[in-house]
Amino acid sequence: MSFQNPVFIPGPTNIPEVIRKACDMPTIDHRSPLFATILHPALDGVRAVMKQTKGETFIFPASGTGGWETALSNTLNPGDTVLAARNGMFSHKWIDMCQRFGLKVRQVDVTWGEGLPVATFEEILRDDTAGEIKAVLATHNETATGVVSDVGGLRRAMDAAGHGALLLVDGVSSIGSMDFQFDDWGVDVAVTGSQKGFMLPAGLAIVGFSEKAVAASKTNSLPRTFWSIDDMRNGYAANAYPYTPAVGLMNGLKLATEMLLGEGLDNVFARHARIAEGVRAATFAWGMKPCAVSPDLYSNTVTAIRTPEGFNASDIVARAAQEYGMAFGTGLGDVAGKVFRIGHLGSLTDAMALSGIATAEMVMADLGLPIQLGSGVAAAQEIYRHGNTSQRMAAQ
Ligand SMILES: *Cc1c(COP(=O)(O)O)cnc(C)c1O
Repeated sequence: MSFQNPVFIPGPTNIPEVIRKACDMPTIDHRSPLFATILHPALDGVRAVMKQTKGETFIFPASGTGGWETALSNTLNPGDTVLAARNGMFSHKWIDMCQRFGLKVRQVDVTWGEGLPVATFEEILRDDTAGEIKAVLATHNETATGVVSDVGGLRRAMDAAGHGALLLVDGVSSIGSMDFQFDDWGVDVAVTGSQKGFMLPAGLAIVGFSEKAVAASKTNSLPRTFWSIDDMRNGYAANAYPYTPAVGLMNGLKLATEMLLGEGLDNVFARHARIAEGVRAATFAWGMKPCAVSPDLYSNTVTAIRTPEGFNASDIVARAAQEYGMAFGTGLGDVAGKVFRIGHLGSLTDAMALSGIATAEMVMADLGLPIQLGSGVAAAQEIYRHGNTSQRMAAQ
């Protein structure tokens, strides 16, 4: 594997040089005013990126999975019922975590490639007149299938059903790359991690709590120690943590949020949309289709590409690594062997995307798929040569 090539896995993502340097710092006293100059700007930056002005935000030294655990353990009680759809590996794993916590899961099975079944959720919530469902789980962007779901629409459906369940949202592969409106969508807990849109190494779980979710945490009884938002809040009040923070990563996060906000969130989202459109144009030029079943579900951070019947899509990932030193994402769970994934989020430019598309073409031609070399590249070029959105971040 080359260390020069960009990665096209949908996280962890490429790390800009300036962020790597920001993470590499001498030891400081993490219970000192110096740490406060990292902690508070990092928290403020994250809130701006996820458009959260109300409630509280916490950053744990963990991966995104720790964020899931923070969301559940601080809001729910043993035996509570949650409503969730299984439409990919990440929604599947969050459901599995609920079950390990002894929660009851009202699971709606959805074909992988489809989005959250908002209308079905609304019906289920309307029928739940006893209010047994305490939380609705939503994976905003299913990284396994490249499907983005309508979280704002889900909130409207919950309100239309007059249901008071908490809305817990996994935004790990969307926040910082696609629009996420914590306040306006009425999100109660938002979960993300450092290693996707924030362009950092793995190691931080970032979690936003609404006022309603904070209120739930005052009375809920699932046990938590490491994940306690009360302990974390008390730590922050003293410019510290209840334990040792990942100071270098926090410093990198502070810079990452400055870079995203400096580029302008709308420009960041437009850049992701354009790069994604190029990848999809290439996909169609190859005679293939995204796993996402309709255009409204197309993710701007990852495209899962269906390969022809009888072909093992994982061979593409293996050959790309061996022969060309380039990393693509493999198919997971229900779509293992049926799709390969091109991650296109974080620190990425049109030119970098073209290198991934060109390499994927070589690999597929090598493996005997009927790919015309240059066809996908040309299709993407047509998209990118008209694009002129800010490339400032990429230039850094
Ligand atoms: C990456 C990812 C996660 C978190 O995974 P970790 O490896 O624990 O950081 C969760 N949900 C989605 C949708 C993801 O893409």
